[in-house]
Amino acid sequence: MKIVDVNTGRPYPIYIEHGIIGSAGKYIRERSDAVRAVIVSDSNVAPIYADRVENSLKENGFETSVFVFEAGEERKRLCTIEKMYSFFYEHDITRTDVLIALGGGVTGDMTGFAAASYLRGIDFVQIPTSLLSQVDSSVGGKTGVDLPVGKNLVGAFWQPILVLIDPDTLDTLPQKFFNDGMGEVIKYGCIKSPSLFKRLENENARDIIDDIIYECVTIKRDIVVNDERDTGERAILNFGHTFGHALEKLSGYSGMTHGEAVALGALMITGVTENKGITEIGTCDRIFNLLKKYDMPFKTEYSFEDIIKATRGDKKSTGKGLNFIFLREIGTCFINLIPFEKIEAFFET
Ligand code: MG
Repeated sequence: MKIVDVNTGRPYPIYIEHGIIGSAGKYIRERSDAVRAVIVSDSNVAPIYADRVENSLKENGFETSVFVFEAGEERKRLCTIEKMYSFFYEHDITRTDVLIALGGGVTGDMTGFAAASYLRGIDFVQIPTSLLSQVDSSVGGKTGVDLPVGKNLVGAFWQPILVLIDPDTLDTLPQKFFNDGMGEVIKYGCIKSPSLFKRLENENARDIIDDIIYECVTIKRDIVVNDERDTGERAILNFGHTFGHALEKLSGYSGMTHGEAVALGALMITGVTENKGITEIGTCDRIFNLLKKYDMPFKTEYSFEDIIKATRGDKKSTGKGLNFIFLREIGTCFINLIPFEKIEAFFET
């Protein structure tokens, strides 16, 4: 088993091991005295994995119940959270009980937010089952829901007490959703790890998936521990995201997955900075080739003007402007604030 310790305000470990879902109850019991455990999962994941987690919880003395919601990003809303609260109340969930997020990013974000807010905060465990949630969203304590006007606009920082990552769950993941996670994986290579990037170039990601998960989680841990509340260095995790979010928005959140949009956003921003002499020559080509290799989109029908316009209202903007993350070369990046009035001129070329 691989273990990554996360020393945030409330420290917790991440365990990575094949088949760990079947022993979830044992590891949760080591870290929780709860009487009751609620598994929160969606209609895609619950039929495959909820039984195994529930049995393991029962074997370890938990009283269990399962809350299932309809799968899809459009359910990541306050109305789903309210249904969860009612469910918790009906099942006598107290402050010392525990929630288990079993599923992808939507499940993790919502369960975390319900845990952060119900009775002013109860424990929760992340069992991410998609590549995106395993390498990215289950680590770091960002929780929340979407509003009709924008994604992730309401939420809280709330760390889990434990993260259990079972790479076997990726076997049931359709290729499109595997690629969704690959967008974030490529991002980690770009911002922090030339060696990871090289391995993605030379090997097949599915063959080295354990190493990939471990490496990404470790990079994210290091960044999050230094900047838990996202006021500084953590911004580099948004490499590719400013244009990525714009692309998602333009496609009505249906044409492209988040990871695909992030990867394409990374390619686009690097195209600009390489042209301007900010980024080492050849970097853009390497990203382009990686996107082709992993069957990700590498061009878009939208004009640069539309994309720039769509970055307006980005959550990452400050009063002064928009923070862009630029690469010096593969593995080295920095934060660059561009004042709003200069954004268009910057990207004109
Ligand atoms: Mg992301």
